[in-house]
Amino acid sequence: MAQVVVLGAGIAGHTAALYLSKFLKKKDGHRVIVISPRPTYNWIPSNIWVGTGKMDRKKVVYDLAPIYRRIGVDFRQAYATVLYPEGTAENERPQVEFVYTDEVNRDTADRVEYDYLVNATGPKLNFEATEGLGPKAGNSFSICTDLHAVEAWDELKKIIDRARAGEKLRVVAGMGNGACTCQGAAFEYAYNVEHVLRENGVRDNVEVVYLTNEAELGDFGVGGMVFRQDGFETTSRLWTESLFRERGVHAITGAGVNKVEKGKLTYENLLGETLELDFDMAMLLPPFSGQPLAAVNKAGEDITSTVFNAAGFMKVDADYSGKPYEEWDSDDWPRTYQNPTYGNLFAAGIAFAPPHQVSKPRTSPNGTAITPAPPRTGMPSGVIARQVSRSIAALVKEGEDAPLYQASMAEMGATCIASTGNSMLDGTAAGMVMDPVIPNAKKYPNKGHRHPTRTRGEIGLFGHWEKLAIHYAFIYKAHALPGWMLIPE
Ligand SMILES: Cc1cc2nc3c(=O)[nH]c(=O)nc-3n(C[C@H](O)[C@H](O)[C@H](O)COP(=O)(O)OP(=O)(O)OC[C@H]3O[C@@H](n4cnc5c(N)ncnc54)[C@H](O)[C@@H]3O)c2cc1C
Repeated sequence: MAQVVVLGAGIAGHTAALYLSKFLKKKDGHRVIVISPRPTYNWIPSNIWVGTGKMDRKKVVYDLAPIYRRIGVDFRQAYATVLYPEGTAENERPQVEFVYTDEVNRDTADRVEYDYLVNATGPKLNFEATEGLGPKAGNSFSICTDLHAVEAWDELKKIIDRARAGEKLRVVAGMGNGACTCQGAAFEYAYNVEHVLRENGVRDNVEVVYLTNEAELGDFGVGGMVFRQDGFETTSRLWTESLFRERGVHAITGAGVNKVEKGKLTYENLLGETLELDFDMAMLLPPFSGQPLAAVNKAGEDITSTVFNAAGFMKVDADYSGKPYEEWDSDDWPRTYQNPTYGNLFAAGIAFAPPHQVSKPRTSPNGTAITPAPPRTGMPSGVIARQVSRSIAALVKEGEDAPLYQASMAEMGATCIASTGNSMLDGTAAGMVMDPVIPNAKKYPNKGHRHPTRTRGEIGLFGHWEKLAIHYAFIYKAHALPGWMLIPE
């Protein structure tokens, strides 16, 4: 009989909850508990469509409680605050403390014991890292949550109306800090905004700017890609540049935004210059850090730095020796996502601490780091969650020596599809497949260190259908409807 606690109900946490409920059934005496602060699941990749008015928010957000009730998972609407991996002086069982967020119990703290715990708390959206950044400060928009995306679309509608009335305007989409990751999402938003403006007949009146901390377009936080298409070799840089050139999107690269005000942002570039850019609307992603979770040992001492890295991400079986960037290796990336100090702690999705950057680290002459943080994409988050769930089930059923399941990002592919429109005939997509996510020089000594044909970029209606299919398939899976296990992550 095991009690497994999952922190977070995003792509990784919800996937873990689904698999754990299958592998460790309630009828066999096992208990799976999900702790997450919102009552809903948000399929984040489709927030792009919400933020451009192509999809209603209700289609990307679903109530968790009925799903968990049906599959026998306990749900606490709460956020975790402290881990006690050694138990406490009063109770030697490992525990996690949390604070309720639901109407009835709001702000009440409680604890629950665990045999195994999966930390899938995703990113803290660290808007505070840049002065004036984000919806709360009121100067820029975001699409990181469904509610942020609704606000972004409300503003974009106003831009369309003003442009229709003849005003000349500028929309900026991109990264709100030199240390941001998730460039694919900002690229996708810029691509969609451009399409929506054209669709509304106001494109000539609105300049679209993609502002990024990537030193060159197409880096995407994965150091760029080499694509092979129709027997020719090209790069993600050329591919992205030509996509933007065709659509008249102006790109600013190597930019570390350090201040956002009403209608104006300030950034430093890789030459060390401080520049300003006026805008009428800006959608700027925040940098990510880990959620603020603490850890305390049996003696009551703070061991947060043992369990988490300085940015708040949980340490797992990766190489954190801090060797120089030039010396890193694909084997430095984690495989099992087990915490090295406490074997019953695992991290899945964005919550795990990556060992190093993939894009080449760059600083301005003033010492400001302007370079994408390591990639944090959704597909690996789901795959990692599935493998972690399998490992926990094996440990429960076969004992402590059971071999753990693996999911290295240096051996796993991922897809990023920037798609416009949401109907079968109206839409086009720029889709990228990278396999693996982390370049693997040992397996692929060829240029780019990824699979030479599976790593590719495609533009056209087909990718759009793929994105639509992914949306509906993953929403089906998230509901744990019959046959959900057949749908891959
Ligand atoms: C606009 C956008 C578009 C994207 N498009 C794509 C795409 O096309 N393809 C792709 O592969 N990836 C995409 N991504 C990335 C993808 O969304 C993330 O990789 C994925 O959501 C990470 O999953 P996660 O479970 O780690 O984190 P999340 O999905 O962020 O889930 C974290 C969960 O933890 C909960 N939580 C937070 N704090 C606590 C706490 N203290 N205690 C308990 N629970 C907590 C949160 O409420 C949430 O439920 C996109 C991202 C964005 C922002």
